[in-house]
Amino acid sequence: MSERVWAATQIGVGQIELREYPLPEISADDALLKIEIAGICGSDIGGYQEFAGEPRIRGHENVGFLAQIGANAAKRWGVREGDRVVVEQYLPCGNCRWCRTGEYRFCDQTDKLPGQTILRYGNTPVSVAPSLWGGFSQYLYLPPNAIVHKIPAHVPATHAALFVPLANGMQWAYLQGGAAPGKTVVIQGPGQMGLASVVAAREAGAQCVIVSGLSRDAHRFEVARKLGAHHTVDVERESLSARVKQITNGQGADVVVNVSRGGRSTVRDALECASKIATIVLAGPGTQEIPTKGFGRKLITMKWVQGASFNAFELGLQLMASGRYPLSEISTHQFDLRHVNEAIRAFAGEAEPAGVIHASIRPEV
Ligand SMILES: [Zn+2]
Ligand SMILES: [Zn+2]
Repeated sequence: MSERVWAATQIGVGQIELREYPLPEISADDALLKIEIAGICGSDIGGYQEFAGEPRIRGHENVGFLAQIGANAAKRWGVREGDRVVVEQYLPCGNCRWCRTGEYRFCDQTDKLPGQTILRYGNTPVSVAPSLWGGFSQYLYLPPNAIVHKIPAHVPATHAALFVPLANGMQWAYLQGGAAPGKTVVIQGPGQMGLASVVAAREAGAQCVIVSGLSRDAHRFEVARKLGAHHTVDVERESLSARVKQITNGQGADVVVNVSRGGRSTVRDALECASKIATIVLAGPGTQEIPTKGFGRKLITMKWVQGASFNAFELGLQLMASGRYPLSEISTHQFDLRHVNEAIRAFAGEAEPAGVIHASIRPEV
């Protein structure tokens, strides 16, 4: 193993450059992951464009092989050197009320709060030893509180790179939304999170999955259908609620997952197309007011959600390992470590290549 590690390090707004770091010493309680592939998240676009603070290595959707692992860490995590794992982005404290109740993604230690250094992959600055806190790198440091899940060898790397969107889909459409047999699920927004929610809703047994988007999403609608969506609705051409009512014989949707990232009135659309009793999951509604008038007699549960639980990660990985879904349709582009700027700009739709749905960084390619 070489003694130096190359990592794509963000040093300013829209500025990522390759920097060299020493390979950390591993003790009995920690480990080193050789990155196989690392997904780019929607939040990486904002972080890239509105960067503030100290240099850091981005990348929090990390897949790789355990290159070195201490004896205690191996025992605690139930893994061995050479195992292929995915790593959750959270590095929680283990002691607060959220950690103690299994909701560790809300642990303050993994949050951006004033007066503390955040401990979360892709966010922790390189000034915190041993610097390797992001997956756009050859290696990632795994401290004792890292959370790993094994992933089977037969899963292609490009599918493995989707473990975070799939976990989110399972959390939002199934665990929070309640997608199940007999249910109609509307997913607003056919981006990587929306498409992963389609797969999750189908995996949960939903009766009818409807995906809405804009006219420019024509290709993504095709992908949604390949993944199992029954209907797609271009909201620039037709009313979502009218179409949903038509499809459901006037009943409306039981579950609405809003991952639209905004739009003029997607929350209003969600309330309009919801059945009399329904759950609306606001997973990425962008910035808009929540209207409270004009929806008739309804019992609506609205949920504001954030990330995925341990259980959702496991469910997402099982779904992925099943091979039942053409996940390559979502995992469209891969870039090497020297082209992280280009990858994020392409994902943001600001540069070629066009048509990126989910992009990943593969250090060895
Ligand atoms: Zn993310
Ligand atoms: Zn905690």
